[in-house]
Amino acid sequence: MKFLVLNLPYQSKIIRKYSCSYFARGFLYPPVELVRLSTIIEENSFPGDEVLFYDAIVENHDEDNCIEKIKNIQPDYIFTMTSIDFISSELKFIEKLRLCVKNPLIIIGYIPSLYPDDFSKYGVVLDGNFETIVYNSLLIIKAEQKADFIEIIKNERLKRTEHNPDLIVHYNLKFIKNYRYKELFSKGNTGFTYWSFGCPYSCSFCIKTYNQHKVSFRKTENILQEIKYFAENGIKNIRLLDDNCTLKKTLLKEVLKFQSENGLKFNYYGLTRIDLLDNEVVDLLIDLNFKHIMIGLETINENSGREYNKIFNIDFEQTKLILKKLRKNKVEISIFMLFNPLTEQFTDIKNTLSYLRNLPVSFASLSYVIPYPGTDIFKKNEQNIEVQNYPEFRWRWKKDYYLNLKKNETYFLKNFYFTNPDRFINLIRLFLKYPSQAFDIFFDSMKYLFTSNKEREDYF
Ligand code: SF4
Repeated sequence: MKFLVLNLPYQSKIIRKYSCSYFARGFLYPPVELVRLSTIIEENSFPGDEVLFYDAIVENHDEDNCIEKIKNIQPDYIFTMTSIDFISSELKFIEKLRLCVKNPLIIIGYIPSLYPDDFSKYGVVLDGNFETIVYNSLLIIKAEQKADFIEIIKNERLKRTEHNPDLIVHYNLKFIKNYRYKELFSKGNTGFTYWSFGCPYSCSFCIKTYNQHKVSFRKTENILQEIKYFAENGIKNIRLLDDNCTLKKTLLKEVLKFQSENGLKFNYYGLTRIDLLDNEVVDLLIDLNFKHIMIGLETINENSGREYNKIFNIDFEQTKLILKKLRKNKVEISIFMLFNPLTEQFTDIKNTLSYLRNLPVSFASLSYVIPYPGTDIFKKNEQNIEVQNYPEFRWRWKKDYYLNLKKNETYFLKNFYFTNPDRFINLIRLFLKYPSQAFDIFFDSMKYLFTSNKEREDYF
């Protein structure tokens, strides 16, 4: 059998993850979930079966190139993953793709799982537990010599099995042209990975990943083996894709110990919450050589914090000390903020800026919160949301809420970067050090700020 694991084409560079998706400017990550899936299939299929991974995004292939390539490959089965934000165009392509292969597609995704009837005509829909479902199906095929893979997968997905993050020790780098992916403001090859899947918190705007409120960590021994494997393959940087990379202190300690015992050193990059950064964790991040930590702070407005179910019990001075220590040790800090157009005003943006003004933060962004279906914020505010489902999916606040979108975002960006000399100088320094990545970001920002950007407006 010939299995093809496909990262769908899109008109510009995007990053697809099961939990979220975003435009890639100055950086590009491989779809790690799909690379892990390719490894799982290869390790558990019959000898002689062929497993191919094809990332149409990194190849810059458009839909026609992609279809042509797939016609040449003639796979028996295609596995693919949809994103949450670009689902309408993905669905159109999935319709064309279905015609290229004799068997139904295997479609992984949050939106297909939420609206399975809209997708089932093209294939079998799998939710966040796709790794285990595919793995179990391959075992059944092997054990029982059954050929009807699609029927087996359909049956397996009905069983409510737990997500097992250790079906493979680590993914196989041979599936990707690793040098073509990049972390922002980094040099050298990057290994992109998850140490854990899922998140134990319940922010009301967040699509819940994998097994809802559970988080599953990979076995430490597998993570350590992967670190060694990355080093053996010339990887210099490690980008942790976990929702919260500082959730488990003991793991950070184990990794640090392993690296010093084996003379290994990487530059680390990852995302976390502000309340998962205490003094001990910060010391660990510094010792591990973190270069960039991204923090989802979201709001300083107490009402919005309650609305988001994201209230932090830490005070400003404490936050400042923690962040100062990171910056003093050359760790870049990004802060992600959300704006709720239903409950917040322009003054909230001003308050956010004055809060951030005295924090040693290198980068910050302010995005309008998106009311994704299936989230608590969506359920609570349905009367204020425009919803359009199959075949053109769209969910956003009613139009009037976006009247000041550009003005608010522009105000935030200008004031964040251009009114703080240290921040501005740091930005210039990074731009000089990483010119091609900087150019990508600069070009895109200017395009957004000074032109009518259709792609972005459609997105909202
Ligand atoms: S901390 Fe909140 S926003 Fe972040 S992944 Fe968890 S639930 Fe989502």
